[in-house]
Formats: sequence, structure tokens, C-alpha cells
Amino acid sequence: MTHTVSDTARRHVPADLPTRIQHYIGGQFVDSVDGDTFDVLDPVSNEVYLQASAGKKADIDRAVAAARRAFTDGPWPTMLPRERSRILHRIADIVESRDARLAELESFDSGLPITQALGQARRAAENFRFFADLIVAQADDTYKVPGRQINYVNRTPIGVAGLITPWNTPFMLESWKLGPALATGNTVVLKPAEFTPLSASLWAGIFEEAGLPDGVFNLVNGLGEDAGDALVKHPDVPLISFTGESSTGQLIFGNAAPFLKGLSMELGGKSPAIVFADADLEAAIDATIFGVFSLNGERCTAGSRILVERSVYDDFVERYAAQAKRVKVGYPHDPATEVGALVHPEHYDKVMSYIEIGKSEARLVAGGGRADGFEQGNFVSPTVFADVAPDARIFQEEIFGPVVAITPFDTEDEALALANGVKYGLAAYVWTNDLKRSHNFAQAIDAGMVWLNSNNVRDLRTPFGGVKASGLGHEGGYRSIDFYTQQQAVHITLGKVHNPTFGKADVDHH
Ligand code: NAD
Repeated sequence: MTHTVSDTARRHVPADLPTRIQHYIGGQFVDSVDGDTFDVLDPVSNEVYLQASAGKKADIDRAVAAARRAFTDGPWPTMLPRERSRILHRIADIVESRDARLAELESFDSGLPITQALGQARRAAENFRFFADLIVAQADDTYKVPGRQINYVNRTPIGVAGLITPWNTPFMLESWKLGPALATGNTVVLKPAEFTPLSASLWAGIFEEAGLPDGVFNLVNGLGEDAGDALVKHPDVPLISFTGESSTGQLIFGNAAPFLKGLSMELGGKSPAIVFADADLEAAIDATIFGVFSLNGERCTAGSRILVERSVYDDFVERYAAQAKRVKVGYPHDPATEVGALVHPEHYDKVMSYIEIGKSEARLVAGGGRADGFEQGNFVSPTVFADVAPDARIFQEEIFGPVVAITPFDTEDEALALANGVKYGLAAYVWTNDLKRSHNFAQAIDAGMVWLNSNNVRDLRTPFGGVKASGLGHEGGYRSIDFYTQQQAVHITLGKVHNPTFGKADVDHH
């Protein structure tokens, strides 16, 4: 296939693109203390289009000091929930009103298809709105022991929250942490992913416009091993919310241990979609195509392993491969594009190497390399492997690209063993019309989140998180509020004091 897109259309460059991105500390845009910067590429041309300030320990120290001042001097942590909520709603309004611009920049920087980047921008606004509502509805526990005692929970923000985020849906994932951290009255230092700093640079302006006090939000760009590491090891940052690879999570866990920090870990996945013969096959195929090829396959909850009951296996594989071949790879800014460009050439090389491994491990039935008609940029053809053995690397390891492994099963027990036979446990998708089986099977899967006869459609009130190597702790709804707050129990005696008396045994009562 040859394409006829002109050179200019290939690399849509947004108007007024910055050429330089700084840190934002204490309400000011600043360079790194040592003046260092790093290159940022766009994934369609892989050309450097901007320089971002490369933060190190000295920059993190400044940002944490600013956040600490904003926490101890206020007013943010002591404002009424309603007052903070109003500012969060204003943030949501501004994000919504700029959704097209945000999506344009995000799509340019990350290679995500523009329609999907737009959905993510709106979801970011929704995250702020949700936590703005939740914080005013928040009630804390009280327990009564009639006539004797009342206990109540005094909930308070913790301090400076360190937020470390990945590049796959940068703006949305930042909002997922910023929303609850700010709603609960903490101040923050955000360290966004170094591949995609562009959309994060917009937060400062949005927050200023919405009336967030200076110093409450601070941003330090930089490499994980420099800026991220310094944030994790900073003694004045009592909690870290991290989303990224499981191996990075392990490293952070170790580095945070001497400080006994609160940790929330949203890590990798290799989520199964299990398709039983009685399922609505067409719906299952549509959902499992979307489940692994949306967001370029760079999705933590991607259904990257499809387990199919033997009696419908050949039919499923044939139809799935045919549909995968029709998934439209295109330039990220084109509204017709379904799969865009992978974020970075390093990640492209990683995904391509897995495709080569897959060719030696299984049967290739769609894709298998660079997308036709795209000589440069990180374009991968939606790739489908069938007959994948459970010990294959493409069955076990997170690829984080548009690559799926399909494996047959004969019995429910075998399906469950296959589903659970990896180190990850983030999401799972079950397709069957058997009511009993669907629930029993769902409950037996090692996964933090299960969808029955559904794609990944998430209610913001539900717990979000994984088990095994996919993470630790849950956020979502009130669980996020719990993570970002201290809960002090206050016990009050009512009536007579019932004291066991020590030291009075020898007192003469005569
Ligand atoms: P990554 O682990 O390489 O990086 C994530 C962030 O951590 C980046 O900001 C990076 O700079 C920083 N970092 C790296 N080393 C660090 C260190 N030593 N100390 C402190 N910070 C450090 O992950 P990635 O490649 O950006 O993102 C892809 C991964 O994220 C995939 O594994 C994916 O499954 C996972 N992910 C999980 C979820 C979830 O909710 N479970 C959501 C999205 C992505």
C-alpha cells in the first residue's frame, strides 16, 4: 500500500508550539539550577522539537521546599473543602474548554490518535470534577459506645505528595493523581515522564487561572534516575504515587523504604481476555480488538492475551486477524486514525524486538512489522500471533504496543490456569453468557479489575489497582482520599472515667 499524504500533512505541527519547557516551582517558571536540558522528540518524525529542563536533586530540593512552605503556611491545607472544590471545578472547566488544544499537543507529543487524545483530555477534566464533588461529600467515621465513649476520625492532608507518571496517557494520568492529592489539601511535586513533557507544561497556566495558590503545585521535569529518584529519596516527601513499569516500581519501593513512605503503585500488566464458546463472538472480537489496539496498545489494562475456547478458536482467529488487518494505522492528527505512532524510537525498537521474538515462538496471522507506507516515525502494524504457548515470552512479558497473543483452551480450569499463569494481575475481561460461570470465573482470576462482557469502561468510584506484579494499593473514589490523607482516631470519654487503678493497692482505706 502506498500512501498519498503530503509531507506537511504527515507531520502536523501545532501552532505556537513551545521550543523550551522549564520547571514550575513556587509559582515561577525556572530553569534547572545547573542549566541542563534534555531533548524531546515527536514520534512521527523522531526529530527533536524542544528542549526541556533536566531536573536533578537541587531542583527537586527547591520544589519540595516550595511545596513544604505552601503546606505549612497555607492557606491550601486548611481551606474549607467547598473552597478547594470550587477551584478544582474551575480547573475542570478550563481543561474542558481547551480539550481540542490539549488533545492536539498530546497527540503531537505522544503519537496517540487525536480522537483518543481528545477522550483522554475530557477524562482528565472529569477526574478533577469527580474529586471536587467527592471532597465536599466526604464524611468521616464516628463510633459510639452508648454512655461511655465517642470515637471520631480526624482526617488531615499528609504534606508534600510526590507524583511520578508515565508517558502513555500523560495528561490524564497526571490528573488522576493531581485531582485527589489537591482535593484533600496536600501540596505536590509532579515529575512527569521524560518522553512526553509537553501537556504537563500546561498545568501551571491552568492552575494559576483557576486560582490555585502559588507553591501548591510544583513541576520538575527530568529523567527518572535523576529527578524521579531525588523525589523518592527526599525526606520531606512522605508519600509517593507512582505509575509506571513494575521494575521501576520495585526500585522505588526499595529507595523509599528507609523513609517508610506511603506508596501507591500502579504498575504493568499482561491482562487476559477469556472468550468462551457461548459468548457473543462479534462483540468479543470488537472489544478485544479495541482492548489491545486502542492508545496504540500502550495501555496498562490492554487485553494483550486472548484465550479462546477450542471449539470457536479457528473461527475467532480468522475473523480477528482479518479485522486487525483493517485497523487503520495513520498519522496521529488524522481523525480517521485508529493506531498512531509509538511514543519514542526506543520504545518502537522494544516492541519490534518482541515482534521478532514472536515470529520464532508462534504463528503470525496479522501485521508483523513496520506499518506499510510509513518509512519513518514509530509506526507499527497491528500484530496478531496465534497458537501462542504459555511459556512464550510474548505470552509472559508486557510488550506495551499493538501486539496480541491468542491461545486456545479446552476447559474452564485450563482457561483459569492460563489467565493466572503470568506474574501480572491488573485487569481481565471475560466473555460468556453463562451467568454462574461468569461470576465464578471472574472471582477466581488474579486481577484487580475484571470486566464481564465489556471493554474497559470504568466508573470513577470503583477501586483501581492491580495484584501481584501489577501494583500495590488501590486508588479510585474514596480509596484515593484515603491514600492522600492521615486518619487520626480521637477517643472521648463520656460520663464517668473508668480507670483501672495502678499504684493504689497499698493505700490504707481505714
Ligand atoms: P517507567 O517506569 O519507565 O517510568 C515511569 C515514570 O517513572 C517516569 O516519569 C520515569 O521518569 C520515572 N522513573 C524512572 N526511573 C525512576 C527512578 N529510579 N526513580 C523514580 N522515578 C523513576 O514507565 P513508562 O515506560 O513511562 O510507562 C509504561 C509502564 O507504565 C508500563 O509498564 C505500563 O503498564 C505502566 N502503566 C501502568 C498503569 C496502571 O495504572 N497500572 C497505567 C499506565 C501505565
